[in-house]
Amino acid sequence: MSDFILSMSEISKSYPSIGSEKLTVLSSINLSISAGDLIGLTAPSGAGKSTLLHICGLLDTCDSGTINFLGKDMQKASDMTRTLMRRREIGFVYQFHHLLPEFSALENVVLPQLINGKKLEQASERAIELLSLVDLENRASHRPAQLSGGEQQRVALCRAVANEPKILLADEPTGNLDEKTSDKVFEALLLLVELSGMAALIATHNENLAQKMKRRIKLKNGKIFSD
Ligand code: ADP
Repeated sequence: MSDFILSMSEISKSYPSIGSEKLTVLSSINLSISAGDLIGLTAPSGAGKSTLLHICGLLDTCDSGTINFLGKDMQKASDMTRTLMRRREIGFVYQFHHLLPEFSALENVVLPQLINGKKLEQASERAIELLSLVDLENRASHRPAQLSGGEQQRVALCRAVANEPKILLADEPTGNLDEKTSDKVFEALLLLVELSGMAALIATHNENLAQKMKRRIKLKNGKIFSD
């Protein structure tokens, strides 16, 4: 068995376009990700970054090719298997935090752990530990509306890694923040990834941030290029 967390082979994806035309977004893509890989994905808007992340994250399917996650063929897997894999092994961060507004920062980090079967006490301990790592221990009882944009995004990071996923997928996680705040969120992301040993695939427009990644790839005309 390979030691890849995720391995995509000859993945293609098109969307319907005008008339009988098709818009090919991904064209026979190959990409393998191992534990500890920290990969920056850069491409112009519309090049297909979100499409690729959604397929990696088992939120969408491809038209052809194979996607193997932890040694299992995900193209052939049932919806239930894909959902469980997504819930247990994959963390997501988006451009907007998508925190639940009526819950505190702590509760937002606790909830996905409860859904995954953890006891409240352990889930709370883990949430406090994570919030402390990103300098938010004093904000644990605040609701999202009482937090700054950077703080909201750091809570979203803690939530994404709360269940100790094997891979973190981030779609422009600092796209909505100013430069200084972006740097702090990015530092928090790198810290959480490094401490856990998980892999991360991070789409960003920000070349400075991309330069901090161990490995960089670009998406152009439906193909992946090493940078
Ligand atoms: P990026 O994340 O790099 O901005 P996306 O993956 O969101 O790019 O989109 C790639 C291309 O596919 C864009 O031209 C977009 O308009 C198109 N697209 C994305 N989702 C759909 C969809 N559900 N139906 C049709 N076209 C889509």
